[in-house]
Amino acid sequence: MDSMAQAFVSTRVVTPDGVHAAAILEDEGRVSGLCPTDSIPPGYQVYDFHDMAILPGLVDSHVHINEPGRTEWEGFWTATRAAAAGGYTTLVDMPLNCLPETTTVAALEAKREAARGRCFVDWAAWGGVAGDNAERIEPLARAGAKGFKCFLIYPGCEGFEMVTREQLERALPHVIRTGLPLLVHAELAEPIEVATATLRGADWRQYMTYLSSRPDEAELSAIELLLTLCDRYGFRLHVVHLATALAIDKLRSARRAGLPVTIETCPHYLHFAAEEIRDGSTLHKCAPPIRNRGNREKLWEALRDRDIDLVATDHSPCTPELKDQEKGRFDHAWGGVASLSVALPVMWSGMCTHGLGLTDLARLMAEKPAELAQLGSRKGRIGGGYDADLTIFDPEVEAEISRDMLHTRHRISPYVGVRVQGKVLATFLRGRAVFREGKFVDAPFGAEV
Ligand SMILES: [Zn+2]
Repeated sequence: MDSMAQAFVSTRVVTPDGVHAAAILEDEGRVSGLCPTDSIPPGYQVYDFHDMAILPGLVDSHVHINEPGRTEWEGFWTATRAAAAGGYTTLVDMPLNCLPETTTVAALEAKREAARGRCFVDWAAWGGVAGDNAERIEPLARAGAKGFKCFLIYPGCEGFEMVTREQLERALPHVIRTGLPLLVHAELAEPIEVATATLRGADWRQYMTYLSSRPDEAELSAIELLLTLCDRYGFRLHVVHLATALAIDKLRSARRAGLPVTIETCPHYLHFAAEEIRDGSTLHKCAPPIRNRGNREKLWEALRDRDIDLVATDHSPCTPELKDQEKGRFDHAWGGVASLSVALPVMWSGMCTHGLGLTDLARLMAEKPAELAQLGSRKGRIGGGYDADLTIFDPEVEAEISRDMLHTRHRISPYVGVRVQGKVLATFLRGRAVFREGKFVDAPFGAEV
C-alpha cells in the first residue's frame, strides 16, 4: 500500500534522552528521523497533537494470550485489542495456558496459525523450558522464539511442566547456545508447603490466608538458587514478576558482581497492597502474591534506583467462573490479573507520586521489555530506523477505570473503580492508527515480529 509520509508533532515527544518538542517523521511504517517542529520537509501529512505526550508504543514482555486452546479465557483478537486501547504495540506471549503449550516447534506453528489476521498489534512468542524438553530448546530458538520461560514450581495449570533443579541444569547448556534469555517464575514449593500446612482450618476467603501461604521465603530461596546457577553457567537470567522487595539487595549485589540478570515487576505489585484487598476479592489473586504496603514502597524505590529493569503486566485473564467470585475462596480461584488495557494509566499515576517521569515510563514499559525480547533494534523507542509505533497519551486527565475500558474477552479486573491519571488517546502501529478516540481499526494488521 502506497501511503503519504507523515509527521507526528507534539511539544512532548518522549525519547531516551528526554522529552522535547519535535516532529517525528514517518515513512512506510518506520521513523526516518526527528526534526524541529518548524522544519518539517514538504510533502508530509502533519498530525499535530499539541501538548499531548507521544510515547513509544509500549511493549509488554509478559502476556498470557491463551490461544490456541483456551480462547474462552482470552485470545489474540481480544488481547491485542485490549493492548491497542492500552497504548501497547507489541506483546510477547508466554508459552503456557495455551494448548498446546509452546514447548515444541509444532506448537509455535499452531500459535502462528491461530494468530493470523487476528492481531491489532504486533506480537512475538516465548518458548517453554518444561520438564524434559531440553532437546527442543535450540529448534524453538531457530524457529523464532525470543527466549524461554520456565517454572520452578507447579504453574497452577495442567499441561506445562515445571522443572526440577536437575532438569533445569540439563536445559541450561542448550539455552546458553541459543544466546537467548531464560525467564523464570521464581518461587520454590517447599516454603509454600510448609506455610500452607500451618494454615489448616484457616478461612480461605481472607486475603491474609492466601498471602501467608506464599511467603517471601518462596521467592527468596528460588532467587538464591537461580543466582547460584547463573554464576555457575552464565546464562541470561530474567526474573519475572518479582513481588518481594526482600530480594532486591541480593539481586543488586549479583548484578554489581557482573551476573547477567534482569528483573521485572508488575503494575499490580506497585499499585495494590495486601492491607487494602477485601476478603473474597479473588480478582486480586496472583502468584507470587501482592504483598504489604511497605513492600510496595520498596519496589518503587528499586524502580527509581534502576534495580528493577522493567514493568510487564503478566496479563493473565480467565473466565469469570474460574475466579470463584461467589464463594471468594483464594485457594480455589484461578491466579492471574487482567490489566493490559489499563496498565499505562495505572503505572503513570504511581510514577507521578513516586518521582518518576515520562522518560522513565518509556524505558520501563517500552525500551527494556523490547530489549529483553530481542526487539531492541526495532521496537521500544522513538528514533530513526525504529518502527513508527506511537502512543498518544494525555498525562494530565483523570478518570475512573470502568468495565468498558477493559476490551478483554471477560471484562473483569481488580482495577475497575480505581481512579487514575492519564489516558490513551490513540495508538499507531507502524504509522497507522489501530486505536483512536475509542475506535479500533477495521482490518487489524498486527504481525509476528
Ligand atoms: Zn505470567
